[in-house]
Amino acid sequence: MESVRCAHCGRVVPANPRIKNQTHCSLEACRRDKKRLWQQQKMATDSEYKANQRDCWKDWRERVCPRFYTKVRWQTYFQLISPGFRMLRIFLT
Ligand SMILES: [Zn+2]
Repeated sequence: MESVRCAHCGRVVPANPRIKNQTHCSLEACRRDKKRLWQQQKMATDSEYKANQRDCWKDWRERVCPRFYTKVRWQTYFQLISPGFRMLRIFLT
């Protein structure tokens, strides 16, 4: 039986004959990583898909929660001006 080294967790697992070009094992995290990689690759190679995804996201953002985004902006603003956050910045830099 053939085996495959998972590209995400590095485990060597028996290859699943139903999956062509298997690169990941069946762990939840690894399957997610595989999907992410696939999406990344798709984004890099398929400009139409990329545009689609972007439009989708933009659509959703504008349609579903314009108020949410306003809120986030305000939160960011208050974080920037609050003394605690400034102290943190000084400490970190
Ligand atoms: Zn894995």
